[in-house]
Amino acid sequence: MNKLRVAFYSLTSCEGCQLAFLECEDRLLDILQQVEIVRFREASSYEGGELDADADVAFVEGSVSTAHDESAVRTIRMRSRRVVAFGACADLGGVNAIKNRQGNEAAKERVYGPYSSWIHTSDVRPVSAVVPVDFTLHGCPVDKDELVRYLYALAVGRKPADPTAPVCFECKLRENICLFHKGGTCMGPVVRGGCRAICPAYGAGCDGCRGLAPDPNVALMRTLLREKGLNSEAIRRRVDLFNASAVPEDLRRELTGYA
Ligand code: SF4
Ligand code: SF4
Ligand code: SF4
Repeated sequence: MNKLRVAFYSLTSCEGCQLAFLECEDRLLDILQQVEIVRFREASSYEGGELDADADVAFVEGSVSTAHDESAVRTIRMRSRRVVAFGACADLGGVNAIKNRQGNEAAKERVYGPYSSWIHTSDVRPVSAVVPVDFTLHGCPVDKDELVRYLYALAVGRKPADPTAPVCFECKLRENICLFHKGGTCMGPVVRGGCRAICPAYGAGCDGCRGLAPDPNVALMRTLLREKGLNSEAIRRRVDLFNASAVPEDLRRELTGYA
């Protein structure tokens, strides 16, 4: 059987999702029985062009925030049979998209001060806003076990399963005591699960790095957060951490209470 030719690419990102693959450590040799890595700059001494390989599957990490990102992702799409949005930046815009709410010029000025004119950057977009995406691996960073399952599914020609139940579902399966009963807050009721509710399991409320679950009850979510004392601004900040551009405006208004 031919091995699946896989490439890992990075746009605007912290490259933490690529590290999640390298952290599979004890499973890497097994994975490489089924998969041939054809490009992976972060884990390679190859000195040719990053985008000069054809792949069966391209894992694209990061959001599109520069002209270079846009040109790169179009080239990747042309050279790859399947494209996976790899992690929250690629899936949602992620933390990079916080700047969309401030405006490019204001964000550049704030970060780079007198050198801001040197920086060429555009509004942050998820990969799917520029090229068609076949599959998505959610999370910041992606979940290693889920990544391995994805790779094996793709290697045998199956469509990888995409979790749809909210974080609360897995949280209940773990028999965690809900953070709302311990004085905390959590976005788990409206966020897509698949992470085994890792944040609530360790006492931290979910901040939504896997994006909204399908058909989220945002009105109820807002009521729960309000009951715990969060005002519109606090809810907006919570939503914007990973989803500044990913939540449709009508849901965003309903969730935050802002008109
Ligand atoms: S999703 Fe998170 S870990 Fe992955 S590249 Fe973006 S910021 Fe880094
Ligand atoms: S802690 Fe969060 S994820 Fe867990 S049950 Fe409560 S709201 Fe849901
Ligand atoms: S609990 Fe929420 S913030 Fe934490 S990994 Fe899961 S989806 Fe992301």
